[in-house]
Amino acid sequence: MAWQTIAKSIRDWALPPNLADYGRARVAFAWEGARKELDGLPGGQGLNIAHEAVDRHANGPLRDHLAIRWLGKNGEVEDYSYGRLQTLSNQFANALQQLGVNKGDRVYILAGRIPELYVAALGTWKHGGVFCPLFSAFGPEPIRARLTIGHAKVLITTEVLYDRKVKALLPSLPFLDHVVLIGSNHQATNVPNTKDYLRLTENAGDSYTIPPTAPEDAALLHFTSGTTGTPKGAIHVHGAVIAHHITGKLALDFHQQDVFWCTADPGWVTGTSYGIIAPLTNGITSVVDEADFDPERWYGILQSQKVSVWYSAPTAIRMLMKAGSEIVRKYNLDSLRFLSSVGEPLNPEAVVWSKEVFGLPFHDNWWQTETGGIMIANFASMDIRPGSMGRPLPGIEAAIVQKTEDGSIQEISDPDIQGELALRPGWPSMFRAYWGEPERYKKCFAGGYYLTGDLAKRDRDGYFWFVGRKDDVIKTSGHLIGPFEVESALMEHKAVAEAGVIGKPDPMALEIVKAFVVLRKGYEASENLRRELLGFARTRLGAVVAPKEIEFVKSLPRTRSGKIMRRLLKARELGLPEGDTSTLESE
Ligand code: AMP
Repeated sequence: MAWQTIAKSIRDWALPPNLADYGRARVAFAWEGARKELDGLPGGQGLNIAHEAVDRHANGPLRDHLAIRWLGKNGEVEDYSYGRLQTLSNQFANALQQLGVNKGDRVYILAGRIPELYVAALGTWKHGGVFCPLFSAFGPEPIRARLTIGHAKVLITTEVLYDRKVKALLPSLPFLDHVVLIGSNHQATNVPNTKDYLRLTENAGDSYTIPPTAPEDAALLHFTSGTTGTPKGAIHVHGAVIAHHITGKLALDFHQQDVFWCTADPGWVTGTSYGIIAPLTNGITSVVDEADFDPERWYGILQSQKVSVWYSAPTAIRMLMKAGSEIVRKYNLDSLRFLSSVGEPLNPEAVVWSKEVFGLPFHDNWWQTETGGIMIANFASMDIRPGSMGRPLPGIEAAIVQKTEDGSIQEISDPDIQGELALRPGWPSMFRAYWGEPERYKKCFAGGYYLTGDLAKRDRDGYFWFVGRKDDVIKTSGHLIGPFEVESALMEHKAVAEAGVIGKPDPMALEIVKAFVVLRKGYEASENLRRELLGFARTRLGAVVAPKEIEFVKSLPRTRSGKIMRRLLKARELGLPEGDTSTLESE
């Protein structure tokens, strides 16, 4: 079915959009101009994310403005003004100082969406540390791998997560100098070999002068997944804040009065770039909800908090659609004025549905861990083509490219031809490295482009359309999962000889993780063993990463060089043609 463009008119805007004329904005835009919207550290001492996010507001008229309203899962409400965030993050920075943390040291946090996470992020940036958030639903294996790759110096976590997932790992983490624990209900903890967050921060001074910070100083380590090998740690620098700030303004259309809700968890890049940094640098109010997805709770939050700008993800939107339009009518959602989505393809049906039930379409946008910020977007002022990711941000050059026979990169200028989505490097939030893996980083660039690993098309009006991933990584409920990490964990079970993992299409989660398992000699396939393996993987990897389905097979298709042909496993699963199998080892 061809979807009709949702044409925008002036009546669609409760406020004049920040980006009113796309063509003009692209011509007029310069990153130096965007930089001028920020203050920089006093005395020309550089650029620091936390200064732009908190201190410059706390030292000015926004001191008492609500920065974050935290909604606890048990009904608690806590308000953090810009002034209060300043004090708390100063205390945290002083606590890091006392612990002997130096500039460039990695400070990890493994926690749900609790206030301490936001304070720790800001305090780490103030102190010059590199902040690395880990998703709290990860199991011990993904946690151990990420702490090891980034050589964590400090880990902040909760007492509960420590007991369940971290304690047993400690002997394999000799580089980890400090574990700091947050007690339940903000209570102090008393666990051997750890420090208590509350005591550490309460006893620390509440004023702190941010040391000089160069825009190229590392600030963030975000893990993402590839097809092979270990997870990749993408490094972002303090200068990225220019892109966070300006994309919040142009793509999410932040205005001073806005109440913003980004539903993503800071364990994933969206929850940091737009769940922490961009709303704060823009001086607006954010809502943070600790609880898991629940339609009634979500609509209740939109209503009670008078959310005006809402940034969510397709899996959640599909679940809201499934819950039905009737529920929506029980709530007054008049405060909403701009809806946006990221992370996976947004079905055209979802855009049309939201226009029907909220009177507002979801605006899809595209970016990834490596880009640090939104690169392609449907802007508030722009007509929407449901199913399209939109057009590149001002300052971003996007292209569709292909590899020629001689291995060089060629831009495809004809419209509607599929190729790899590529970006011209040079925007401030571009990743600067994969931690400790220069070769892997280098491989992302060719012909003057950063190659995204996504396949897409561009239509004749410059709208980009997502086609799929070029590699075998899996998108499940908005989370990027590396098949290799799952295969490795399964192979640690004594019954498993080898495993091949794919993303199996799913109407709600986009894909689910499915594993094909070859058993070792002496083991028989059975329902009991299948359940045992599912449980084994879940305990090691955590619920988001572990396979939801396991199928026993006699062998896995491999290339002659020994690589598992996941593409073939997937084609067979879907009953599709197997494509080029010339490199297939005879099975
Ligand atoms: P992550 O690095 O975990 O944020 O995942 C980035 C990947 O998610 C991209 O490379 C795409 O494959 C996918 N993605 C992100 N946004 C979109 C979108 N709007 N439409 C389709 N796929 C998307």
